[in-house]
Amino acid sequence: MNIGIVGLGLIGGSLGLDLRACGYQVLGVSRREQVCQKAIDRGVVDLASMDFAILAEAEVIFICTPIAAILPTVNQLIPVLNPSTVLTDVGSVKVPVIEAITPLWSNFVGGHPMAGNSECGIEAAQTNLFVSKPYVLTPVASTPLAAVAVVENIVKSLSAKIYHCTPQAHDRAVSWISHLPVIVSGALIAACQSEANPEVLTLAQNLASSGFRDTSRVGGGNPELGLMMAHYNRDELLRSLQHYRQNLDGLIDLIEQKNWVELEQQLQSNHAARSHFVRE
Ligand code: NAP
Repeated sequence: MNIGIVGLGLIGGSLGLDLRACGYQVLGVSRREQVCQKAIDRGVVDLASMDFAILAEAEVIFICTPIAAILPTVNQLIPVLNPSTVLTDVGSVKVPVIEAITPLWSNFVGGHPMAGNSECGIEAAQTNLFVSKPYVLTPVASTPLAAVAVVENIVKSLSAKIYHCTPQAHDRAVSWISHLPVIVSGALIAACQSEANPEVLTLAQNLASSGFRDTSRVGGGNPELGLMMAHYNRDELLRSLQHYRQNLDGLIDLIEQKNWVELEQQLQSNHAARSHFVRE
C-alpha cells in the first residue's frame, strides 16, 4: 500500500520511519528541498517531493502539519486526489479540524496520536514513537466505515492503542490531561520567576531539582504548542481552567483555615486518583 505524509516533522517523520519498517511504500511532501533529501537519507520516506502531485498514487495520506496548515493542505491536495483516497490528520485538537475538512472530503478520518516530545522537525523523528501509546480516532456519523477500518489497520501496525471517541469528547479530554497542564505548569514557572528578592530567586533557581523539572516540563516547552492549544481548544481549555481555579481556591481556603484534616483527605484522594491517569 502507498501511504502519503504531508509535513515531515516530528510526527510525520516518525510515522514514516515506522510505516516503512512495516513494509508500506511511503511518499512524503515537504515545503523544503533539503527536508525532502534528509527524509530520504534518514529512511523516513521512499520518495519525497515539494510537489503534491507525488501523492496522486497514495491510498491513504497522513496530514502532519501544524493545525493551522491542515485546511490549506487539504485544499492543495484535492486537485491531485483520487476520490477513493483516505485522508487522516494528526492534529492535537479535533473539532475545528473535523468541521473544516469533513464537508470537503468525505473519506476523512480525524486522528490524534498521543505521543511526542518537545522537539520538532525531521531531526526529531524517531522509531517506535507510537508503540503502546494511545492513538485516538474521531470518526463522525458521515465517516465511511471502510475509511475508518483502513486507518485503524495502519495505526494497529504501529503497535499503538486505538481509541474511538467524538471530536467533542476528544477535545474536552485532552484539555484536562494535556492543555490544562501546559497552562498550569507555565503559571508555576511565571509565579516562581516573580520572586521579588533577587537572592531568594537565585537560591530557588539553584535548588530546583527533579520535582521542579517534572512540574515545569510542559509549561516550559515549545511556546507554539501552548498557543495552538489555547487558540484551537479555547472553550474547553477555559472550562478546565475555571475548574482548576475553583480547586486551587479550595486548597487556599483549607490552608488559610489550617484545616489540616480536610487538606490531608484531599491530598490522600489525589494520591489515589493519580494512578487512574498515570500508569508507571
Ligand atoms: P513539527 O515537528 O514542527 O512538524 C510539522 C511539519 O509541518 C514541519 O516540519 C513542516 O515541514 C510542516 N509545516 C510547518 N508549517 C507548515 C505550513 N504552514 N504549511 C505546510 N506545512 C507546514 O510538528 P509536529 O510536532 O510533528 O506536529 C505536527 C502535528 O502533529 C500538529 O498538528 C500537532 O498538533 C500534532 N501532534 C503533535 C504532537 C507533539 O507532541 N509534538 C503530538 C501529537 C500530535 P516542512 O518544513 O518540511 O514542510
